[in-house]
Amino acid sequence: MEYSSPNLTVNLSTAGGKIACARCAAKSKRTGNQCGKPALNGKAVCQFHGGRSTGPKTEAGKARQRASVITSGNYTKESIEHRSRSALRLAWLEDAMYVLKMTDAPRTRGPKPKGYKPLVTLEDVKGFILDNPLNLPEGSVEHQN
Ligand SMILES: [Zn+2]
Repeated sequence: MEYSSPNLTVNLSTAGGKIACARCAAKSKRTGNQCGKPALNGKAVCQFHGGRSTGPKTEAGKARQRASVITSGNYTKESIEHRSRSALRLAWLEDAMYVLKMTDAPRTRGPKPKGYKPLVTLEDVKGFILDNPLNLPEGSVEHQN
């Protein structure tokens, strides 16, 4: 069933044009045709296509519904935030490389990540390194204080 197709008939008139109402927006999975029944009052679909459903009631059902909406997880709040933080760290690492004279390659072009302030002095780089300890894998050399 699809409800948001642009080429659906929205209104239905029956009884020789005497009754006008909303048409069920469900489409057949098999034929692709739109359902011919009138939609229930205040709903987009008829009773056969979920018009009587009032949604999940239990907390488990609501959680299942929320989880079903997520397809890839690439655009959840957490993953967008994670990408933004990663881009920020990368931009600061690039700044640190320039300050430490490790490279003279052209700078990365384009808009800078949210919250970016350029690191220009050695003190800035020191602060960045102290704020962002290395993510060393388990069993590798430990960071000495
Ligand atoms: Zn229907």
